[in-house]
Amino acid sequence: MRIAVCIKQVPDTAEVRLDPKTNNLIRDGVPSIINHDDKSGLEAAISLRDELNDGSTVTVVCMGPPQADVALREALAMGADEAYLVSAREFGGSDTYATATIVGAALDKVGYDLVITGRQAIDGDTAQVGPQIAEQLDLPQVTYAEELKYIKEENALIVRRQFEDKAHMVKIKLPCLVTALAELAEPRYMKVGKIVDAYNHEVKVLGFDDLKDILNPDWIGNAGSPTNVVKSFTKPAKTAGVLLKDLTVDQAVEAIMAKLIERHLI
Ligand SMILES: Cc1cc2nc3c(=O)[nH]c(=O)nc-3n(C[C@H](O)[C@H](O)[C@H](O)COP(=O)(O)OP(=O)(O)OC[C@H]3O[C@@H](n4cnc5c(N)ncnc54)[C@H](O)[C@@H]3O)c2cc1C
Repeated sequence: MRIAVCIKQVPDTAEVRLDPKTNNLIRDGVPSIINHDDKSGLEAAISLRDELNDGSTVTVVCMGPPQADVALREALAMGADEAYLVSAREFGGSDTYATATIVGAALDKVGYDLVITGRQAIDGDTAQVGPQIAEQLDLPQVTYAEELKYIKEENALIVRRQFEDKAHMVKIKLPCLVTALAELAEPRYMKVGKIVDAYNHEVKVLGFDDLKDILNPDWIGNAGSPTNVVKSFTKPAKTAGVLLKDLTVDQAVEAIMAKLIERHLI
């Protein structure tokens, strides 16, 4: 089985700050990591490959600037077999739709039976790219995977899909795409020997020229991005609040009601 895992390099913080003038992410001084959900998806892929032990492979694909090479080498050090950096000036300015178009084209080049993406990236936070890649590749998909099991005889996966207060058990034939929750698998640590090997391993770069036979320039970058960012802003920090202490239940109800009325909330 060829398992392709899409990983995104993201700033190591849940509190992404924006430059108020340019509306761009402030990345200076913020270290980068592999997105949590993607790492969990990668762990699930490596475990499945090892369980199958039949020549199956795990290929990681990351679209990003040249610095994203580090994320791919970390994935190799965890146990991925091949790594592809999808990078070109033409890809800059891509929104989620154009990103999915480009990553989908890269996946077509690389080959796959199963595609795993994270559910959501901690910086962009849209959870759109996985489902959009599935649409681009015309693949069936299961999102929010918290458990998966491969049924060899049927070439299908049974996926436990998180759904509010319950779970769905979905059987899906390969080829397909699954979006992984962080709960899907606990990522392994890299081994020192594997880190050394990862830095000797080739990270293949797919640029625009490598994909242009299947990628129309009008579908990518600014030209291919239907999203318009009207405004972006950082949420104001929450205040400490007011602690009402030593009140009876009736006094507490009265105090809370008075506050709600004062703020025209009721
Ligand atoms: C108008 C506009 C212009 C933009 N311009 C740029 C730009 O110039 N440069 C830039 O870096 N970003 C740019 N972005 C942001 C970029 O579109 C998103 O970061 C990207 O599409 C991923 O979206 P997300 O973070 O919401 O991912 P989600 O949809 O939350 O991610 C879900 C999963 O998809 C996969 N995935 C997401 N992104 C990638 C990736 N790059 N490679 C591999 N797998 C991935 C991962 O598995 C991830 O867990 C722009 C966004 C907009 C709206």
